[in-house]
Amino acid sequence: MPPRNIPLHTRLPKTYHIASVKRETEQVTSCTFDVSLGSRPGQFVMLWLPGVEEIPMSVANDDGKQLQITFFAIGETTRKLASMKKGDLVGLRGPFGTFYEWKPKQHLALVAGGYGAAPMYFAAREAAKDGCTLSVFVGARSKGHLLYLPAFRKLPRTTLYVSTDDGSQGFKGFNVQLLEKTLKEGASPLAIDQIFACGPERMLKSVSDLSFRTKIPGQLSLERYMKCGFGLCGNCVVDPLGIRLCTDGPVVRNDIARKITEFGKYHRDELGRKKMV
Ligand SMILES: Cc1cc2nc3c(=O)[nH]c(=O)nc-3n(C[C@H](O)[C@H](O)[C@H](O)COP(=O)(O)OP(=O)(O)OC[C@H]3O[C@@H](n4cnc5c(N)ncnc54)[C@H](O)[C@@H]3O)c2cc1C
Repeated sequence: MPPRNIPLHTRLPKTYHIASVKRETEQVTSCTFDVSLGSRPGQFVMLWLPGVEEIPMSVANDDGKQLQITFFAIGETTRKLASMKKGDLVGLRGPFGTFYEWKPKQHLALVAGGYGAAPMYFAAREAAKDGCTLSVFVGARSKGHLLYLPAFRKLPRTTLYVSTDDGSQGFKGFNVQLLEKTLKEGASPLAIDQIFACGPERMLKSVSDLSFRTKIPGQLSLERYMKCGFGLCGNCVVDPLGIRLCTDGPVVRNDIARKITEFGKYHRDELGRKKMV
């Protein structure tokens, strides 16, 4: 359930020194900070670079001592962030939003595309502590874009399925296709209790359709343009439900996602203008 009472101190940015920087791929970087915000898997922080912007960023790990984020350098803020070094100061506030929920010992299928591998890793790590069995489906355009594979391989009771669009590593095609194939054709069919997904919206829509068809409950992380992070500005309201994805999301159950008519079709930019997915 969404954390309804967001204390004032989590709404205000505090600055933290970057503790380490890791170049994951050509375009993707991870940064750690020596702080725990008590985040749960699926939640996000608002990251502020003075003089640039404040942007939402999923928590890739929060182990009680350190917090990690993993990001694509695609625009002004994320490119500036990618150029920063150990010791540089970054503003963080949060954690915000809903999180993935499971029961101990469940079998979870985790579907991760792009930087979605980061929050999915956080979910996998925490669920593994609760004795869950994990089938993780990581997909990317090509081999060089796959994220977090060594980290997933270290988790107990975890089977890793890799797919690339061009076939340069693992299954040739989308990770959702590989999940569907595995569900249908596996030597011992997977008895999955829940499907969790984080990644591009088209991938999420395919996961949503699969979850609906197979009646396996799903939880999806939906992203919209977010400014405040705690439900004040209304920028991330979705049609026709009027829920705010910064507080009622980003993680939503599939039955809710399927009532969002803009899901898989369009989203709104910083001025509320419609943009097709
Ligand atoms: C809940 C949530 C979690 C996210 N987690 C991650 C993550 O873990 N790693 C990662 O690389 N990216 C993540 N993003 C996306 C990230 O916030 C944007 O890519 C980032 O804001 C781009 O900023 P920029 O200035 O570098 O690029 P810009 O050139 O400003 O923007 C590029 C694109 O990013 C999106 N974007 C820009 N600002 C925002 C905003 N305030 N809210 C939502 N989308 C925005 C828009 O689609 C825009 O067209 C997340 C977004 C949301 C909503």
